[in-house]
Amino acid sequence: MAPGRAALTVDLETFQQLPAYRQAPGTADRDDLGIEQIEPLLDLLDSHDATCTFFTVSSLAADHPDLLATIADRGHEIASHTKSHGHLPELTAAERQEEIEVSRSTLADATGATVEGFRAPSFQRTDDYLDLLADAGYEYDSSVVAARSIGWYGGGPQLHDPCDATAVDPGAPADLRELPVSVMPGLRLPLTGAWLRLFGIHYTLAGMRLQARKGRAPVLYVHPWELADLPDVEAVPRRVTVRTGEWTWRALERILQQEFEFVTARTLTKGDSNAAKPAPSPSDTDAEGRL
Ligand SMILES: [Zn+2]
Repeated sequence: MAPGRAALTVDLETFQQLPAYRQAPGTADRDDLGIEQIEPLLDLLDSHDATCTFFTVSSLAADHPDLLATIADRGHEIASHTKSHGHLPELTAAERQEEIEVSRSTLADATGATVEGFRAPSFQRTDDYLDLLADAGYEYDSSVVAARSIGWYGGGPQLHDPCDATAVDPGAPADLRELPVSVMPGLRLPLTGAWLRLFGIHYTLAGMRLQARKGRAPVLYVHPWELADLPDVEAVPRRVTVRTGEWTWRALERILQQEFEFVTARTLTKGDSNAAKPAPSPSDTDAEGRL
Protein backbone atom coordinates (compact mmCIF):
# COMPACT_ATOMS: atom_id res chain seq x y z
CA MET A 1 0.00 0.00 0.00
CA ALA A 2 1.33 3.44 -0.85
CA PRO A 3 2.26 5.42 2.25
CA GLY A 4 0.18 8.41 1.20
CA ARG A 5 1.15 12.00 0.76
CA ALA A 6 4.20 14.04 1.74
CA ALA A 7 5.35 17.62 1.26
CA LEU A 8 8.90 18.39 0.20
CA THR A 9 9.10 22.13 0.76
CA VAL A 10 11.91 24.33 -0.51
CA ASP A 11 13.10 27.32 1.48
CA LEU A 12 14.27 29.43 -1.43
CA GLU A 13 17.06 31.62 -0.13
CA THR A 14 20.71 32.01 -1.08
CA PHE A 15 23.61 30.93 1.09
CA GLN A 16 24.52 34.59 1.47
CA GLN A 17 21.19 35.22 3.17
CA LEU A 18 22.07 32.92 6.06
CA PRO A 19 22.97 34.84 9.20
CA ALA A 20 25.99 32.58 9.77
CA TYR A 21 27.34 33.42 6.34
CA ARG A 22 26.68 37.12 6.64
CA GLN A 23 28.85 37.18 9.76
CA ALA A 24 31.72 35.30 8.12
CA PRO A 25 34.72 37.44 7.17
CA GLY A 26 35.84 37.89 3.56
CA THR A 27 33.57 35.34 1.96
CA ALA A 28 31.17 37.24 -0.27
CA ASP A 29 33.03 36.18 -3.39
CA ARG A 30 30.28 34.23 -5.14
CA ASP A 31 26.87 35.58 -5.97
CA ASP A 32 23.59 34.03 -4.96
CA LEU A 33 24.77 30.54 -4.05
CA GLY A 34 21.87 28.17 -4.64
CA ILE A 35 20.16 29.94 -7.53
CA GLU A 36 21.92 27.84 -10.18
CA GLN A 37 20.50 24.73 -8.53
CA ILE A 38 16.86 25.71 -9.08
CA GLU A 39 16.49 24.69 -12.72
CA PRO A 40 18.00 21.21 -12.20
CA LEU A 41 15.89 20.88 -9.06
CA LEU A 42 12.76 21.61 -11.09
CA ASP A 43 13.83 18.93 -13.57
CA LEU A 44 14.34 16.43 -10.74
CA LEU A 45 10.89 17.23 -9.31
CA ASP A 46 9.33 16.79 -12.76
CA SER A 47 10.97 13.42 -13.21
CA HIS A 48 9.29 12.22 -10.00
CA ASP A 49 5.93 13.98 -10.59
CA ALA A 50 6.53 15.94 -7.40
CA THR A 51 4.76 19.23 -6.77
CA CYS A 52 6.37 21.44 -4.14
CA THR A 53 6.01 24.67 -2.24
CA PHE A 54 8.85 27.18 -2.52
CA PHE A 55 8.94 29.41 0.54
CA THR A 56 10.76 32.24 -1.20
CA VAL A 57 12.72 35.26 0.04
CA SER A 58 11.06 37.95 -2.04
CA SER A 59 14.14 40.13 -2.48
CA LEU A 60 15.26 37.49 -4.99
CA ALA A 61 12.47 38.65 -7.30
CA ALA A 62 14.44 41.78 -8.18
CA ASP A 63 17.34 39.84 -9.72
CA HIS A 64 15.53 36.65 -10.71
CA PRO A 65 11.92 37.47 -11.70
CA ASP A 66 11.91 34.97 -14.55
CA LEU A 67 13.09 32.18 -12.26
CA LEU A 68 10.25 32.73 -9.81
CA ALA A 69 7.72 32.86 -12.67
CA THR A 70 9.18 29.64 -14.05
CA ILE A 71 8.73 27.87 -10.72
CA ALA A 72 5.07 28.91 -10.61
CA ASP A 73 4.50 28.13 -14.29
CA ARG A 74 5.82 24.61 -13.76
CA GLY A 75 3.04 23.97 -11.28
CA HIS A 76 4.68 24.62 -7.94
CA GLU A 77 3.36 26.83 -5.16
CA ILE A 78 5.14 30.08 -4.33
CA ALA A 79 4.87 31.09 -0.68
CA SER A 80 6.74 33.66 1.41
CA HIS A 81 9.94 33.29 3.41
CA THR A 82 9.95 37.05 4.19
CA LYS A 83 11.46 39.86 2.17
CA SER A 84 15.09 39.66 3.30
CA HIS A 85 15.36 36.56 5.53
CA GLY A 86 15.70 38.59 8.71
CA HIS A 87 14.88 36.69 11.89
CA LEU A 88 11.50 37.95 13.09
CA PRO A 89 12.49 38.28 16.79
CA GLU A 90 15.39 40.55 15.81
CA LEU A 91 13.16 43.02 13.95
CA THR A 92 10.89 45.78 15.18
CA ALA A 93 7.14 45.25 14.88
CA ALA A 94 7.07 47.65 11.93
CA GLU A 95 9.89 45.78 10.22
CA ARG A 96 8.12 42.47 10.74
CA GLN A 97 4.97 43.89 9.21
CA GLU A 98 6.93 45.10 6.18
CA GLU A 99 8.74 41.77 5.72
CA ILE A 100 5.42 39.94 5.80
CA GLU A 101 3.36 42.36 3.66
CA VAL A 102 5.93 43.32 1.04
CA SER A 103 7.07 39.77 0.43
CA ARG A 104 3.53 38.64 -0.31
CA SER A 105 2.83 41.39 -2.84
CA THR A 106 6.29 41.13 -4.45
CA LEU A 107 5.99 37.39 -4.97
CA ALA A 108 2.47 37.75 -6.33
CA ASP A 109 3.66 40.40 -8.81
CA ALA A 110 6.60 38.25 -9.92
CA THR A 111 4.55 35.11 -10.51
CA GLY A 112 0.97 36.18 -11.11
CA ALA A 113 -0.04 33.70 -8.42
CA THR A 114 -1.81 34.18 -5.11
CA VAL A 115 0.56 33.81 -2.17
CA GLU A 116 -1.17 32.00 0.69
CA GLY A 117 1.62 30.52 2.80
CA PHE A 118 4.43 31.80 5.00
CA ARG A 119 7.45 30.33 6.76
CA ALA A 120 9.55 32.32 9.23
CA PRO A 121 13.34 32.23 8.68
CA SER A 122 14.95 29.59 10.92
CA PHE A 123 11.45 28.85 12.29
CA GLN A 124 11.90 31.81 14.65
CA ARG A 125 8.48 33.08 15.64
CA THR A 126 7.15 36.07 17.58
CA ASP A 127 3.95 36.71 19.52
CA ASP A 128 2.56 39.02 16.83
CA TYR A 129 3.42 37.31 13.57
CA LEU A 130 0.23 35.27 13.16
CA ASP A 131 -1.86 38.44 13.41
CA LEU A 132 0.44 40.12 10.89
CA LEU A 133 0.02 37.18 8.52
CA ALA A 134 -3.77 37.35 8.64
CA ASP A 135 -3.74 41.12 8.22
CA ALA A 136 -1.54 40.75 5.11
CA GLY A 137 -3.90 38.20 3.56
CA TYR A 138 -2.06 34.94 4.16
CA GLU A 139 -4.10 31.81 4.74
CA TYR A 140 -1.57 29.52 6.38
CA ASP A 141 1.70 29.44 8.26
CA SER A 142 4.37 26.72 8.31
CA SER A 143 6.78 28.04 10.93
CA VAL A 144 6.16 25.53 13.71
CA VAL A 145 8.59 22.67 14.13
CA ALA A 146 7.98 20.51 17.20
CA ALA A 147 11.68 20.03 17.76
CA ARG A 148 13.49 19.87 21.05
CA SER A 149 15.07 23.21 21.93
CA ILE A 150 18.46 23.21 20.22
CA GLY A 151 19.58 26.80 20.48
CA TRP A 152 18.55 28.43 17.25
CA TYR A 153 15.04 26.95 17.20
CA GLY A 154 12.76 24.42 18.73
CA GLY A 155 10.96 24.25 22.04
CA GLY A 156 7.75 25.47 20.44
CA PRO A 157 4.25 24.02 20.34
CA GLN A 158 4.16 20.22 20.08
CA LEU A 159 2.03 20.13 16.95
CA HIS A 160 2.37 17.45 14.31
CA ASP A 161 -0.71 17.75 12.11
CA PRO A 162 -2.28 20.50 10.01
CA CYS A 163 -4.45 22.53 12.36
CA ASP A 164 -5.96 25.92 13.00
CA ALA A 165 -3.40 28.51 14.03
CA THR A 166 -5.32 28.88 17.28
CA ALA A 167 -3.58 25.65 18.31
CA VAL A 168 -0.28 27.56 18.08
CA ASP A 169 -1.62 30.61 19.87
CA PRO A 170 -5.20 30.75 21.25
CA GLY A 171 -5.33 34.42 20.25
CA ALA A 172 -4.45 33.75 16.61
CA PRO A 173 -6.91 34.70 13.85
CA ALA A 174 -9.55 32.00 13.58
CA ASP A 175 -9.30 31.41 9.85
CA LEU A 176 -5.52 31.06 9.69
CA ARG A 177 -4.12 27.51 9.35
CA GLU A 178 -0.84 25.94 10.45
CA LEU A 179 1.25 23.21 8.80
CA PRO A 180 3.88 21.96 11.27
CA VAL A 181 7.18 20.63 9.93
CA SER A 182 7.79 16.96 10.73
CA VAL A 183 10.22 15.74 13.36
CA MET A 184 11.55 12.27 14.18
CA PRO A 185 9.28 10.74 16.83
CA GLY A 186 11.11 10.43 20.14
CA LEU A 187 14.28 12.19 18.99
CA ARG A 188 12.30 15.34 18.14
CA LEU A 189 14.63 16.69 15.48
CA PRO A 190 13.58 17.60 11.92
CA LEU A 191 13.75 14.89 9.27
CA THR A 192 15.68 16.99 6.77
CA GLY A 193 17.88 20.08 6.51
CA ALA A 194 21.09 19.71 8.50
CA TRP A 195 19.72 16.55 10.15
CA LEU A 196 19.49 14.71 6.85
CA ARG A 197 23.09 15.60 6.09
CA LEU A 198 24.36 14.80 9.59
CA PHE A 199 22.43 11.58 10.25
CA GLY A 200 22.19 10.21 6.71
CA ILE A 201 19.46 9.22 4.30
CA HIS A 202 18.23 6.22 6.32
CA TYR A 203 17.37 8.56 9.19
CA THR A 204 15.11 10.62 6.94
CA LEU A 205 13.52 7.65 5.17
CA ALA A 206 12.81 5.92 8.49
CA GLY A 207 11.24 9.12 9.83
CA MET A 208 9.01 9.41 6.79
CA ARG A 209 7.82 5.82 7.24
CA LEU A 210 7.19 6.34 10.96
CA GLN A 211 5.12 9.45 10.24
CA ALA A 212 3.15 7.62 7.56
CA ARG A 213 2.41 4.80 10.01
CA LYS A 214 0.88 7.39 12.31
CA GLY A 215 -1.34 8.52 9.44
CA ARG A 216 0.63 11.72 8.97
CA ALA A 217 2.00 13.24 5.81
CA PRO A 218 5.72 13.97 6.35
CA VAL A 219 6.58 17.65 5.89
CA LEU A 220 10.21 18.08 4.83
CA TYR A 221 12.31 21.05 3.81
CA VAL A 222 15.43 21.59 1.71
CA HIS A 223 17.43 24.67 0.74
CA PRO A 224 18.80 25.17 -2.80
CA TRP A 225 22.22 26.07 -1.36
CA GLU A 226 22.38 22.59 0.19
CA LEU A 227 22.54 21.34 -3.41
CA ALA A 228 25.49 23.61 -4.25
CA ASP A 229 29.17 22.92 -3.75
CA LEU A 230 29.71 25.44 -1.01
CA PRO A 231 32.98 27.29 -0.52
CA ASP A 232 34.93 26.80 2.68
CA VAL A 233 33.64 29.53 4.91
CA GLU A 234 35.41 30.54 8.03
CA ALA A 235 33.18 30.70 11.12
CA VAL A 236 30.25 28.83 9.52
CA PRO A 237 29.32 25.76 11.59
CA ARG A 238 30.10 22.41 10.01
CA ARG A 239 26.45 21.36 10.28
CA VAL A 240 25.66 24.07 7.73
CA THR A 241 28.02 22.85 5.03
CA VAL A 242 28.51 19.13 5.71
CA ARG A 243 27.57 16.88 2.76
CA THR A 244 26.19 19.75 0.69
CA GLY A 245 26.37 19.39 -3.09
CA GLU A 246 26.42 15.97 -4.77
CA TRP A 247 25.63 14.03 -1.59
CA THR A 248 22.45 16.05 -1.01
CA TRP A 249 21.40 15.67 -4.65
CA ARG A 250 21.55 11.89 -4.27
CA ALA A 251 19.70 12.03 -0.94
CA LEU A 252 16.96 14.15 -2.46
CA GLU A 253 16.57 11.66 -5.28
CA ARG A 254 16.22 8.83 -2.75
CA ILE A 255 13.52 10.77 -0.92
CA LEU A 256 11.61 11.42 -4.13
CA GLN A 257 11.86 7.74 -5.09
CA GLN A 258 9.81 6.75 -2.03
CA GLU A 259 6.21 5.76 -2.56
CA PHE A 260 4.73 9.03 -1.45
CA GLU A 261 2.69 11.46 -3.48
CA PHE A 262 4.59 14.73 -3.08
CA VAL A 263 2.14 17.61 -2.89
CA THR A 264 2.25 21.28 -1.91
CA ALA A 265 2.06 22.64 1.61
CA ARG A 266 -1.19 24.33 0.62
CA THR A 267 -2.69 20.97 -0.35
CA LEU A 268 -1.77 19.39 2.99
CA THR A 269 -2.85 22.43 4.97
CA LYS A 270 -6.29 22.60 3.44
CA GLY A 271 -6.84 18.89 2.98
CA ASP A 272 -9.36 17.21 5.24
CA SER A 273 -7.12 14.21 5.84
CA ASN A 274 -3.39 13.82 5.71
CA ALA A 275 -2.70 10.50 4.20
CA ALA A 276 -3.80 6.97 3.79
CA LYS A 277 -3.13 4.92 6.89
CA PRO A 278 -1.01 1.99 5.75
CA ALA A 279 -0.67 -1.18 7.75
CA PRO A 280 2.67 -1.57 9.56
CA SER A 281 5.17 -3.56 7.56
CA PRO A 282 8.25 -5.53 8.64
CA SER A 283 10.51 -2.86 7.17
CA ASP A 284 8.90 -0.24 9.42
CA THR A 285 9.66 -2.37 12.43
CA ASP A 286 13.25 -2.72 11.33
CA ALA A 287 13.58 0.99 10.89
CA GLU A 288 12.13 1.70 14.31
CA GLY A 289 14.36 -0.92 15.88
CA ARG A 290 17.48 0.69 14.49
CA LEU A 291 16.51 4.00 15.95
ZN1 LIG B 1 15.48 30.24 5.54
